[in-house]
Amino acid sequence: MKTLAVLGATGSIGASTLDVVARHPDKYRVGVLAAHRSVDALTELCARFRPELAVIADAACERELRERLHARGVASRVEAGPHALVEAASGAHCDTVVAAIVGAAGLESTLAAARAGKRLLLANKEAVVMAGDLLAAALREGGGTLLPLDSEHNAVFQCLPREHADLDAVGVKRILLTASGGPFRGRSAAELATITPEQACAHPNWRMGRKISVDSATLMNKGLEVIEAHHLFRAPATRIEVVVHPQSIIHSLVEYADGSLLAQLGNPDMRTAIAHALAWPERIDAGVAALDLVRLGRLDFEAPDLATFRCLALAYQALATGGAATIVLNAANEEAVAAFLDARLPFLAIAETIERCLAEAPTGAPADLAAILDADLTARRHAQRMIAALSA
Ligand code: NAD
Ligand code: MG
Repeated sequence: MKTLAVLGATGSIGASTLDVVARHPDKYRVGVLAAHRSVDALTELCARFRPELAVIADAACERELRERLHARGVASRVEAGPHALVEAASGAHCDTVVAAIVGAAGLESTLAAARAGKRLLLANKEAVVMAGDLLAAALREGGGTLLPLDSEHNAVFQCLPREHADLDAVGVKRILLTASGGPFRGRSAAELATITPEQACAHPNWRMGRKISVDSATLMNKGLEVIEAHHLFRAPATRIEVVVHPQSIIHSLVEYADGSLLAQLGNPDMRTAIAHALAWPERIDAGVAALDLVRLGRLDFEAPDLATFRCLALAYQALATGGAATIVLNAANEEAVAAFLDARLPFLAIAETIERCLAEAPTGAPADLAAILDADLTARRHAQRMIAALSA
């Protein structure tokens, strides 16, 4: 029996996780549910899963959550504030942490889970992009296991041998991350100038939170995933390639020295990756429909358009630059995407904001969490000024 903390329980990954968990009450129980400020949704989940602990990150919502749970007869203890996330991730109410908070807000709880030796099911890619080295050190220190939930990284994990010192030792030549291309695949920059948040969030294959949906539309999602793959699989950027595959059936591939390509295929449904990570090294039912290859008929591939979708090129650039560049990339992206979703910034200005911020990124590598958070905050202030200038 595993006991889970689902951080980001009210989001898209949270919902998919709890759907899989509910199918296996003999294997998984929920010890902690955490969310930002959606009291209604968190109350409903607590009433259904009865966790020992409910965490609301926005302390202003604490009283309301307490009252709502009490009114529903739910006995979950309530904790509030960002610090409560960290305590929940490392505390005694769970042995497994699903890190499904969106953005930098998930960094500290993700690190805390790793340091505490929890089984870490990682969706919060922004944490890896900001602090990949620190996360690796925390995992070593805690001795726990990281299982990727991001579908591409989960696929790569499945295509790699179980034990390996490094990629060369097992004959891996390249990692190929597939990308759907997002809702605007094939469009020119001129056609992207007037894109609205609703258009950007209408992904052809996946239903996801709004931030990652915009990231998928700009291809920054794939850029963040290249950096994530670099850290999770200790692969140099030159050995991580992106191939556009509009059907999202092949979730990624590993190329070996003998010419073999191993791929993981499935319907585009996050519950497959989640069920894999929950049960690994075993396998459980995820509630996902079987993939019908004959009905599918074909799989298509093309090269990404880096000139139109500049965010992917900017991510490779930040990875090559090193130092604080990937922190700046992530912070500028989060600020620019929030401004775009708020109708304060045009779609194409997202890449522009990031490019300008990267040009002024500090060169030194931040040594610890405090330095990372400082670089993040500085980059956000800088991005805010760029956004104000670009939206004027
Ligand atoms: P979402 O917007 O649907 O949900 C985000 C969750 O994070 C919510 O529960 C919200 O309450 C919580 N949250 C937001 N800000 C917070 C804060 N300051 N403190 C505490 N909690 C906070 O997002 P999502 O689509 O579920 O994505 C979550 C993460 O998983 C992201 O990092 C995303 O890149 C990654 N991911 C998502 C998918 C997907 O299919 N949705 C696939 C791969 C990776
Ligand atoms: Mg992904």
